[in-house]
Amino acid sequence: MSEPLGQGVEEPIDRNGAFPRLTDDQRARLRMLGQTRAVAPGEVLFREGESGYDFFVIESGAVTIVEGYGQENRVVAVHGRHRFLGEVNLLTGSPAYLSAVVRDAGELIQVSAASLRALLSEDEELSNLILRAFMSRRSILIDIGAGVKVVGSRYSRDARRVREFLARNRMPHHWMDLEADEEAEALLCALGVGACETPVVIAGRDVLRNPSNAEVAKLLGFGSRGAGPPMCDLVIVGAGPAGLAAAVYGASEGLDTQVIDAVAFGGQASTSARIENYLGFPTGISGGELAERAILQARRFGARMVVPARAVGLTRNDGHYAVQLADGEAVNGRTVIVATGAQYRRLELPELERFEGFGVYYAATQTEAQLCAGDPVMIVGGGNSAGQAAMFLSQHADSCRLVIRGDDLGSSMSRYLIDELDRAGRIDILTQRQITELKGDSSLEAVLLEDPRSGAQTEIEVRALFVFIGASPHTDWLRGHVAMDEHCFLLTGRDVQGQDLAAYDGERPFLLETSAPGLFAVGDVHSGSIKRVASAVGEGSMAVRLVHQRLAV
Ligand SMILES: Cc1cc2nc3c(=O)[nH]c(=O)nc-3n(C[C@H](O)[C@H](O)[C@H](O)COP(=O)(O)OP(=O)(O)OC[C@H]3O[C@@H](n4cnc5c(N)ncnc54)[C@H](O)[C@@H]3O)c2cc1C
Repeated sequence: MSEPLGQGVEEPIDRNGAFPRLTDDQRARLRMLGQTRAVAPGEVLFREGESGYDFFVIESGAVTIVEGYGQENRVVAVHGRHRFLGEVNLLTGSPAYLSAVVRDAGELIQVSAASLRALLSEDEELSNLILRAFMSRRSILIDIGAGVKVVGSRYSRDARRVREFLARNRMPHHWMDLEADEEAEALLCALGVGACETPVVIAGRDVLRNPSNAEVAKLLGFGSRGAGPPMCDLVIVGAGPAGLAAAVYGASEGLDTQVIDAVAFGGQASTSARIENYLGFPTGISGGELAERAILQARRFGARMVVPARAVGLTRNDGHYAVQLADGEAVNGRTVIVATGAQYRRLELPELERFEGFGVYYAATQTEAQLCAGDPVMIVGGGNSAGQAAMFLSQHADSCRLVIRGDDLGSSMSRYLIDELDRAGRIDILTQRQITELKGDSSLEAVLLEDPRSGAQTEIEVRALFVFIGASPHTDWLRGHVAMDEHCFLLTGRDVQGQDLAAYDGERPFLLETSAPGLFAVGDVHSGSIKRVASAVGEGSMAVRLVHQRLAV
């Protein structure tokens, strides 16, 4: 008989609350919910690809967590006495992407996923402990690249698309680059997959050849399953902080709520390494974790969540809305909250992504100011946001340069701000320049500036580059249906004026309601928004209140 997997492997230390041991009291509470039973070495507790697996607490013995069980048998970890198994997918009902196999005989407490979910809404102590552990485990698995495999070429656009889709959905995955990894080619041969069919996504026994994002989502169980109702009370388009807040409030207040997102739940905030200014998190919280928590919360209240689902059009019939999706389907709702956010414009530069968060920033708050204290700083952009950032950052930085492509600031920045910049005297304004290259190893060290008239290039030492070149809202799909400002952000409440009020028959739109009755706009997509996580969350929750009022009219 072969030796059980994970023999001689030590248990991982409890990093960030990922692997706590339960106390006698906590285990007693779990024992009351499930059954306690003996297990023998080699017994499989759950397998890769299995949905809705049970929750296990180890009373005695040891369990090995394995990737590719029965094939490459990669041991991810071994857990022993009083630890518990599972990860975020146990709560969302998505398939497991690792297997759990008993290494040492012992006794386990087994609790069904449904009973665990019920317990978590009642037992605050266990709820905090288990949620914390599941989320830390997800981060660890993302770091170590456990989970599904993606095989492809680093030069392939589709490979990049699939990897980005997995990353935005916080799905741990193991990237195998055909250009650098000999095992990648061997694996493709073994599966009988030609290089022209890559990228390939491998999850357990399932192999997807150059799949669409929707196929990946279906295989890995992102979002809710099954068909939605023919008509919802509330359709939320966009699941960033604003949309997720609306989903939590909508679903918890009894509205039949459906949320759709084109890419991933969490929005822009989930791409932020650390959000330092969100109320209630004194040491900051990663955007990914904030999103994960909000998703679980929205689901717990019964919100239906669908990804990827891109809204491409809107129609209004008999007082309800049909949101048309890119795949040809439609979602119908009595009311709609648009929370599609805005895309901060990025510089088109090679390797920009590598420096984002490591010297390239899109906000100039106290946090960034601390990061670049005493450093040479550069700001790109000629608008008020760039000017304000320059004023603020120049108080902290060693040197501060403001770079614009045009001749002067007069055409894009308010006069008072230009005067303040002049008076401050600490800010160097470089006109008719553009950045052509970012330089540095692990973080930004310098930029290459070009004068487009002469082509002359200068290298300047810069440790922090702030980009304020505007944001464009995701509102293409609403053109012709709702009133927008000159930059295509949605007008709401009192800002809706004149002809745009026609649909209200002498009434006025509620706060956050657009020129179309029952269609609300919240977060970054709405004209004049603050562009902060907290304000997006605030508006998302407020809009639900107004949805109730509109439904009651
Ligand atoms: C790198 C970075 C760091 C940041 N850090 C901070 C910070 O520390 N503190 C802070 O307060 N703010 C921060 N911000 C700003 C903050 O993230 C945004 O203000 C906030 O995310 C706005 O939320 P939202 O829900 O309105 O929009 P978004 O977060 O942009 O979400 C919009 C969602 O809509 C989806 N969507 C778009 N079009 C469609 C469509 N047609 N159909 C379906 N779905 C669609 C998108 O996929 C996205 O998920 C940061 C932003 C960035 C980019």
